[in-house]
Formats: sequence, structure tokens, C-alpha cells
Amino acid sequence: SKAKLFDENTDIKTSFKDVAGLEGAKEEVQEIVDFLKTPEKYTSLGGKIPKGALLVGPPGTGKTLLAKAVAGEAKVPFFSLSGSDFVEMFVGVGASRVRDLFKQAKEKSPSIIFIDEIDAIGRARGKNAMSGSNDERENTLNQLLTEMDGFGTNTNVIVLAATNRADILDKALMRAGRFDRQIFVDLPDIVERKEIFEVHLRPIKKGEDLDIDFLARQTPGFSGADIANVCNEAALIAARKGNKAVHKQDFLDAVDRIIGGLEKKNKIIT
Ligand code: ATP
Repeated sequence: SKAKLFDENTDIKTSFKDVAGLEGAKEEVQEIVDFLKTPEKYTSLGGKIPKGALLVGPPGTGKTLLAKAVAGEAKVPFFSLSGSDFVEMFVGVGASRVRDLFKQAKEKSPSIIFIDEIDAIGRARGKNAMSGSNDERENTLNQLLTEMDGFGTNTNVIVLAATNRADILDKALMRAGRFDRQIFVDLPDIVERKEIFEVHLRPIKKGEDLDIDFLARQTPGFSGADIANVCNEAALIAARKGNKAVHKQDFLDAVDRIIGGLEKKNKIIT
């Protein structure tokens, strides 16, 4: 069987409603939605539509979600791939995979290309050389730069890429006409955590003792992904107890469990 080179989704249902908090980032990507929907409005005065933007922030903060929401709001196809499985799985075909991806995206334009973990491809050249894979990675990176430079002004494909390490990226990626915009996606503050809880509590059968402000206070340092996890865990914990709804204590148990998991993860890192 032939391995899939990238994902293509022409019917993204994600919208800005699914992305809680991140007001600044949403405002910035709203512009990209507008460019995709009515490019003529912007090019008519001689302006050039940006080709790429970098979403920068810690893991689990909603970068992928936001990129999907751009495609969903603009109703355009979403082409995605992850920088890390590039390096791991497709030795020898990285550059052709990039070429193919851009070809498809152009054929279906207006469209979005999303590259998750771009640092796996876009690390500054000559640093952190991994055994053998480095030439391959550089070929892939060069192909990506070539493709972005080759876009005509009316191609109408916008490339979004995510990273939590913008500092290690090759500066060539950030040059004008490439990823020349950076959009910051940070960990949520208490108000944003509350909003994220509200999104992820939508499908949950809520007990009457549930207190979202309390949950937001109990979860400093949690990412959106952690909060989504808490809500899901709480529902499973409540179900295991045979309860008819998910109560405050189930959430507290879930928070403990997630904190336990986070501590373990940190131990491995440090
Ligand atoms: P990574 O850097 O690990 O790839 P990411 O920043 O791309 O992470 P996502 O994959 O977008 O994070 O987030 C994972 C999940 O966490 C989302 O699918 C969603 O369920 C939840 N989530 C994260 N941030 C938010 C948010 N701001 N609002 C609502 N849900 C969120």
C-alpha cells in the first residue's frame, strides 16, 4: 500500500467558535480568512497577500485548532502534514513530498497548507545534526523555500506553520514573502481557561454542583489540550462510578490525574 504523503480535508467543520480565548491570534488570522475569501479586495490596490504565517506557542495551546478554523471559516481545503513524520518516515522523498503538496494545494486554491512542528524541517542549518537525516532535512527545507518563493501573487494558497521553538528556526524561513508574520498563541490565563472549559463542557452532562470559575482557578498552567483532557477524563471517571452526570469531584479527580501525568512528563524532560 502506498503511504499517504499528506492529509487533505475539503470539508473542515472547525470554526472560530471552537477556539476559546486567543482573541489577539484570532483577530490576526481573521485577516487571512478575508484574504482567502476576497483576494481581489486586497490586491486591487496593488498590495500583495502574505504567503505564510507562523503560529508560535507552547504545546497544546490551539495552534492546529486555529489553523483548521481558518480553513473552516474561509471554507477552503486544508492540506496538512507534520514536520516530525517527514524526518522519520519519508527518508529520500521529503522534497518531492513538499512539491506534491504544493501542487495539490495550488490546484485546489484558494486553500490552506498547514505544517505542524515545522522546526523538525526548519531548524537552522548546521545545528543539531541528526545522524544521516540532515541532508534530507535540508533538501526538504530548501524545497519548501523554493515553493513559497515560486507562488505567484495570485496563487491564493496561504501556508500556516506551527512551532514551539521559533528561536531555532532557520532565519531564511522568516524572510519577506515567506513566513514573515508571527502569531503568538500562549497558554490561557484564568479567563481564557474558563472559556476553554465552556467549549469542552458543551457535550458533557453537567452535575448541578459544577462551578466553571472554580475549575479555571484549579488549573493554572494548563493548556487548552490539558483542559480538553480534564473534561473527557471527568466524564469517564463519572461513568465508571455509574453516575448520571459529571460532578465537581469528578473534575477534581481528573485534574489530579492530569497533573500527575504532567509531572511525569516533566520528569522525563528535565
Ligand atoms: P501542539 O503544539 O502540541 O501540536 P497545538 O497548539 O497545535 O499543540 P492543538 O492540537 O490545536 O494544539 O490542541 C489540541 C486540542 O486541545 C484541540 O483539539 C482542542 O480540543 C484543545 N484546545 C487547545 N487549545 C484550545 C482553545 N484555545 N480552545 C478550545 N480548545 C482548545
